[in-house]
Amino acid sequence: MSGPRSEARRRGPALDVAVVGGGMVGAAAALALARAGFAVALLEAREPAPWRAGEEVDLRVVGLAPSSVALLDSLDVWTSIRQARAGAYRHMHVWDAQNGAAIDFDAAAEGRDLLGYIVENNLVQWTLWRALEAAGVQRLCPAEVAGFAAREDRIQLDLADGGALAARLLVAADGAGSPLRAMAGIATRGRDYAQRAVVAHVATERPHGETAWQRFLPGGPLALLPLADGRSSIVWSLPEAEAARVLALDDRAFRDELGVASDFRLGRILGTTPRAAFPLRLQLAERYQAERLVLLGDAAHAVHPLAGQGVNLGLRDVAELRDVLVEARAAGRDIAAAHVLRRYARRRHSADTLDARGFDLLARVYAWQSPPLVAARGLGVRLVDGLAPLKRRLIAHAAGEGS
Ligand SMILES: Cc1cc2nc3c(=O)[nH]c(=O)nc-3n(C[C@H](O)[C@H](O)[C@H](O)COP(=O)(O)OP(=O)(O)OC[C@H]3O[C@@H](n4cnc5c(N)ncnc54)[C@H](O)[C@@H]3O)c2cc1C
Repeated sequence: MSGPRSEARRRGPALDVAVVGGGMVGAAAALALARAGFAVALLEAREPAPWRAGEEVDLRVVGLAPSSVALLDSLDVWTSIRQARAGAYRHMHVWDAQNGAAIDFDAAAEGRDLLGYIVENNLVQWTLWRALEAAGVQRLCPAEVAGFAAREDRIQLDLADGGALAARLLVAADGAGSPLRAMAGIATRGRDYAQRAVVAHVATERPHGETAWQRFLPGGPLALLPLADGRSSIVWSLPEAEAARVLALDDRAFRDELGVASDFRLGRILGTTPRAAFPLRLQLAERYQAERLVLLGDAAHAVHPLAGQGVNLGLRDVAELRDVLVEARAAGRDIAAAHVLRRYARRRHSADTLDARGFDLLARVYAWQSPPLVAARGLGVRLVDGLAPLKRRLIAHAAGEGS
C-alpha cells in the first residue's frame, strides 16, 4: 500500500493520549502526560467552575497526602494551590465513641513537618486546568464520548456532538459512574454502604490545632478536618435516613447535634455553612485495562472517605501511568500495547484493592455493636497506639511512600 492513507497509518494518530474526564485525576493525568512530552487531549462534559479567592470555601475538600503534593509539585501547580488556600494538618486524633479507645498520629514525632493538606476540590481542578493550555493540552469542553473502537494502531472516539477523534490510548478518568468503563464492558465489585456523607464547614469554639479529628460513632465516622481559615470541614457519614434528617435540620439544631456528635472536642459549634451530602460506596473495577484503554481515579476505585484517600489513590494511578508510558516510549514500544498497559493495571489494581479492602475492613470493624466486640476493638486500638513502629508504617503508607 502506498499514498497518503498508508503514510498516515504508519505515523499513527496525531494524538498519543485522549483523557476523558477533567476532574482532579483526569486533569492531573492530562498535565502529567503532556509535561512528559506526549500529545494529549482532555475531554470533559462540564466546564469547571473558576476558583476565586474571595468566594466561600468549596464544600468539597480532600486531604492531600505527601505523595499527591509531590506529584502536583512536579507539575508546577502545588505552589499556587498552597498559596491560594490550603490547610496543613500535623496531627490526627481518632477516637471511638463506644469504648473511648483513641489513636494519635503526630508528624513531629515521626520527624515530619506535616501529615498532609486539606484543599478544596475545585481549587485543585481549576489550577490544573489553567496549566493545561500552556502545556499544549487540547481541551474539548463540553464534550462527551458516545462510543469508541480499538484499531490496530489507534482508538477511534465518536463524540456525542457528531465529532470524532483518534489517539493511541484512551484514559478513562470519568468518575465513579464512568460511562467509558461501562462501554468497555468492565464490571465492578463492592458494596453500597447505605450511608451518605454530610459535609459542611463549621466554626468552632476552640481552634482545630492543625489536627484532623475523627470520631467513630455507631452510625459512622465523623471527621473534622482543619481548614486554612481556622474553621473545620466536616465529613459526617450517616445511615441514609439519618443523613436526610440531619440535612433537614435548621442551623441551630444542626450545630447542637454536631456538638454532641463531636463530643464537644472543639467546644461548641458556633456557625455553619449550608450542607450537602454524598452517597458512599465501595466500588472496584474488576480490571483497569481494556484494548487501548485504561481506567484511572474513581472510574477505577471508589472508597469510603474514612481514610481520606480516594483522590490520593487516583493521583498515584497518574504517577504510575506516566512512568509506565515514558518507559515504553523510551524502549520504542507502542504506548498502548497490551503488555505495557498490563504493567500499569496490575500494579495499581493490586495496590488500590489492598487499600480499598483495608478501608472497608475498618468500616466493618467500627460498625461492630456487640459489647464483647466493642471491647475487643478498644483493646486492639490501644495496642496499635502503643506500637510506635507500626504507627510509623501506617503514616508512611498513608503518605504514599512505597505504594
Ligand atoms: C464526602 C467525600 C469526602 C472525600 N474526602 C476525601 C479526602 O479527604 N481525601 C481524598 O483523597 N479523597 C476524598 N474523597 C474522594 C475524592 O473526592 C474522589 O476520589 C475524587 O474526587 C475523584 O476524582 P476523579 O477525578 O477520579 O473523579 P471525578 O471528580 O468524579 O471527576 C470525573 C469527571 O469526569 C467528567 N465526566 C463524567 N462522565 C463524562 C463523560 N461521559 N464525558 C466527559 N466527561 C465526563 C465529570 O464531569 C467529572 O468532571 C472524598 C469523597 C467524598 C464523597
